[in-house]
Amino acid sequence: MSRVAYVDRRYVSIAAPAVRVEDRGLQFADGVYEVIKCVSGRPCDLERHLNRLERSLTALAIPMPASRAALKTIIRSTLHRNGLHDALIYLQVDRGVAPRNHVVPARLRPTLIVTVRRSSLPRATELSHGIGIITLPDDRWKRCDIKSVSLLPNVLARQQGAAAGCREIWLYDADGCVTEGAGSNAYIVDTDGNLVTRPLGQAILGGVTREVVLELARDEGIAVVERPFSVAEAHNAREAFLTSTSSLVLPVTAIDGRGVANGMPGSITSRPLQRYLDHMMKAA
Ligand code: PMP
Repeated sequence: MSRVAYVDRRYVSIAAPAVRVEDRGLQFADGVYEVIKCVSGRPCDLERHLNRLERSLTALAIPMPASRAALKTIIRSTLHRNGLHDALIYLQVDRGVAPRNHVVPARLRPTLIVTVRRSSLPRATELSHGIGIITLPDDRWKRCDIKSVSLLPNVLARQQGAAAGCREIWLYDADGCVTEGAGSNAYIVDTDGNLVTRPLGQAILGGVTREVVLELARDEGIAVVERPFSVAEAHNAREAFLTSTSSLVLPVTAIDGRGVANGMPGSITSRPLQRYLDHMMKAA
């Protein structure tokens, strides 16, 4: 089955030249996106993703491209047309088409793009053994709370990570504190046994998985502390993990080539991980 995308009110082949040359998403990265996991045909945490989409669009004064009900219909239809049940849904909204000019003309109609692909969730061995990451300076802009399609620093950082054999990297700010991953939120278990993660703010994206996982961890009775932590503290942490829609809750067992504690996923991490897997299956 050839892949079908929804682009600006039409379903087209993914190979079709469907985006206009003067689309501001293309010329200015003037837009936002969401990645939503679909398990057994049901988008997981869809309302939370649509809430964040609305927050990102509001921050950029871009109107919602359609009602929530219409967005859900488009998502369902794109999944159906691609014959997918377990998938990652990519939804992009940009400001629309206009002659190239930094200043935004009035009354633009936003462009909506939806694509889906077979999901490649972490393998069981990755969840049970964890992954290694490296740390790099955070070169991004100062509004990382907006899920902007402008991802060049994230792309370059991930590329550097890939060259070092790592599928994720953690970024650190001018104070040497970890902000987040290039495409995930970052956590440690500190020497007091607290689950620590950077508080929400403009330095990180408020991950949907983060929101769910912190709720589940608190529900499990785990002490959650939202505060910045340094790279040095991460090196000496008892446990570390990351969260994202596509990586779920993924143990981090090595940072900058050094094992985290004994180099195996820890017992605190495994609790929100298990609870998140249950949550994901229940949502489906
Ligand atoms: N931070 C960044 C920079 C991201 O790109 C992502 C995922 N795209 C996340 C965090 C995690 O967000 P979510 O749990 O909603 O996938």
